[in-house]
Amino acid sequence: MGRGERFRVVVLGARFGGLAVVHRLRRLMGDRVTLTVVDQRATAVFRPALVEAMARPPVFVRSLRIPLDRAVGRAGTFLNDRAVAIDAHRRLVHLASRRPLPYDVLFWATGADAAWSVVEGLSPATGGLCEDFLARHAAAANATWTGGRILFVAGPYRADPRATPQPASACECPLYEAAFLFDQALRRHGRRDHTEVVVVSPAGVVGEALGPRGRARLQDLLDTRRIRVVTGARYVRVEPGRLVLADGALKAERMIWIPPYAGSDLARRSGLDDGYGWVPTTGHGRHRDWPDIYAVGDLAARLPKTAHAAVTQARAAVDHWVRTVRGQSPPAPWHPASVTLLDTGDGRALLAYGPGPVGDAREHVVHARWAAWVKDLLAWLYVRSDGRLPFTP
Ligand SMILES: Cc1cc2nc3c(=O)[nH]c(=O)nc-3n(C[C@H](O)[C@H](O)[C@H](O)COP(=O)(O)OP(=O)(O)OC[C@H]3O[C@@H](n4cnc5c(N)ncnc54)[C@H](O)[C@@H]3O)c2cc1C
Repeated sequence: MGRGERFRVVVLGARFGGLAVVHRLRRLMGDRVTLTVVDQRATAVFRPALVEAMARPPVFVRSLRIPLDRAVGRAGTFLNDRAVAIDAHRRLVHLASRRPLPYDVLFWATGADAAWSVVEGLSPATGGLCEDFLARHAAAANATWTGGRILFVAGPYRADPRATPQPASACECPLYEAAFLFDQALRRHGRRDHTEVVVVSPAGVVGEALGPRGRARLQDLLDTRRIRVVTGARYVRVEPGRLVLADGALKAERMIWIPPYAGSDLARRSGLDDGYGWVPTTGHGRHRDWPDIYAVGDLAARLPKTAHAAVTQARAAVDHWVRTVRGQSPPAPWHPASVTLLDTGDGRALLAYGPGPVGDAREHVVHARWAAWVKDLLAWLYVRSDGRLPFTP
């Protein structure tokens, strides 16, 4: 890296992965880069807390938002715009409403698209929790809930069938959490008897992302709370008041979905995906064919698809790039770990930690009050620090 050399760095997507890149770059490179951050939304939201919509009034969502112009601050320029294509040959990001943006290095963290259209009849209007507007609507609908059956449904995960591990769902645990929180809210108001709470998942087991100990603990809690789970679900279509599965239909007064995960249209459109919508990377997050592009978080062809993974991948990618431009040896590559922190609504949370992308027998599991405090504290710290978590300085 020559003296006085300034790199044009573009960060695309500014939630867990993107904001972690911004903060890490600011720390390691200061003003030695010209930083531009692009996101189609003006605010980032602390997604893991959106499940709280099942037990709180709609306004609570406001407390989870981070204004992105403030988060980027003096470190760079924030552009509220949508990327429509990436031209890796010419190192340009094409935006919906501005001139193409040139880069020397691109940190790409636009996540997975919510693939509602994968299931016939499914749309954001069906019900969901993965964005702040959906959580607000879900919370508003709770106020008029009079009873019946509610389904919490995990969409399927579509990826290269040769990849291992190959989970059936990429994001199932938040639905267990949402079911627990709704159950608790109904009990608090003495209305639980009129409601059947059902979690529906394409996974073959309850708590696919967990190891055997975590699954057993989760199953105990579900039994105690009278929450039923339908595993191995194969979705055919969504109809008004019905979810049609390959082996029958489930009637429901209401559904809350985490939509299917089928990669990124931006990656597909730009010819930068692995054929399944996910971006192929090295262990440091570098694109396998384009060394000036790093992909981190849900977008990358890696597991698990969690906020924790996005943040730690961001750190590994920035460290790799900084050491490369400084002519230093590369840092250790990113290693997956599965961290699940699931609020059970009774003042406690189930914490499972395992080395590896999905839980295994070496997993540590606790169900404790302090775990619920940790969860609340993380949300508070994340928002207050504009996405700068203590473990990603
Ligand atoms: C309800 C729910 C609860 C969850 N709970 C947990 C949890 O408890 N713990 C955990 O670890 N993980 C949890 N997850 C998973 C976690 O939220 C994701 O893994 C994480 O958000 C991935 O971060 P990311 O930065 O890769 O992508 P995202 O968070 O998806 O961020 C992508 C950003 O890119 C922007 N963007 C997308 N496309 C474009 C474009 N074309 N142009 C410009 N900007 C664009 C988006 O606006 C967004 O800001 C949960 C997920 C959901 C849905």
